[in-house]
Amino acid sequence: MSNDPTNTFPWLADELRDLERGGLLRKRRQVKSLPDGLCEIDGRRLVNFASNDYLNLAHDPRVIAAAREALESAGAGATASALVTGRTEWHARLEQRLAAFEGHEAAILFPTGYAANLGTITALVGDDDIVFCDRLNHASLIDGCKLSGARLRVYRHTQLDKLQRELEKAAGHRRRLIVTDSLFSMDGVPAPLVELCDLAERFDAALLIDEAHATGLFGEQGRGLAELDNIEEHPSLIRIGTLSKGLASLGGFVTGSQQLIDWLWNRARPQMFSTALPPSACAAAIAAIDIIEQEPERRQRLLETCDTFRKKLITAGLDVPEGGIGPIMPIILNDPERAVAAASELEEAGFLVAAIRPPTVPTGTSRLRITVTAGHGDETVDKLFHSLC
Ligand SMILES: *Cc1c(COP(=O)(O)O)cnc(C)c1O
Repeated sequence: MSNDPTNTFPWLADELRDLERGGLLRKRRQVKSLPDGLCEIDGRRLVNFASNDYLNLAHDPRVIAAAREALESAGAGATASALVTGRTEWHARLEQRLAAFEGHEAAILFPTGYAANLGTITALVGDDDIVFCDRLNHASLIDGCKLSGARLRVYRHTQLDKLQRELEKAAGHRRRLIVTDSLFSMDGVPAPLVELCDLAERFDAALLIDEAHATGLFGEQGRGLAELDNIEEHPSLIRIGTLSKGLASLGGFVTGSQQLIDWLWNRARPQMFSTALPPSACAAAIAAIDIIEQEPERRQRLLETCDTFRKKLITAGLDVPEGGIGPIMPIILNDPERAVAAASELEEAGFLVAAIRPPTVPTGTSRLRITVTAGHGDETVDKLFHSLC
């Protein structure tokens, strides 16, 4: 008798070999996160240009102190789903804080942003409905659309006329839902939210936006691209966010009307059938929101640094997607092996940058994806620029 799993699943060895040959095998590494945009891999200190800790809050002493307080008073885990007994004082406080921050009636937490997208879409549409999904949407939105059972139409945000034609044909469906990232996670470009709101209104559709990369960064108060584009009052808008990026913690959330939140509480399965977030994660997120409100200069400085850096990359002739804003700075290299080679060269030079390959991005569009955070000063970003050019 052998425990060798390749005997049980002989196809695994073949598949893994194919991935390796195509430059698509992902290796697991161990990363030690350090303050101020740094990390350590294999004992080497690198500047981390691959993290989503955009506002440099993961190591902020105030965030850590808040998490510690909740950890010590409420324990390590929530011990049950929110629906049963897992919704502690910290969850309720964070939900209230998120609703107030985003100017909505209510909010609901999910174990992750992925779960929030999956749970919200599947709670809102089903077999009799139709959902319109941008081609560049995050995997969690696409998975939610597929799982919902609704008819799925994929569009390109650069071709809204096509979306409009599809919407014109969709009047016979019970409900229509348009789903989009607000800032596309692999391209760093914003969705045309104003135009999408117009289309949603004209064709009696709801608009669901995923602000994962925008919360805490954009808008006067840091509420995201809905704030920046002034569409927050749109009546059929559903806003989803994550606590795991700008807010430096873990978890997903939806804010909206009390009725929407009541419905998700009753019908959004990922939050019904998963254990609630650790109370310490909730406390950390509350502290992060406080900082976002108190320190607008943090996001303003970051966005200025990003703006300058993006312009320099474009001027230097690198293939950066047009129309980008904010901290996600992709450099398209097309070939997966080229992207991996470029990332290892940068690592030699002391920078951790992600090589992004299919299936995360469409075939032929492999890329370096640089994320700038508030932990990187202009000088550090300049050093990276010189390594790239
Ligand atoms: C990261 C990401 C998510 C998932 O968020 P998690 O909280 O990490 O699960 C959802 N949507 C987009 C656009 C993302 O980039």
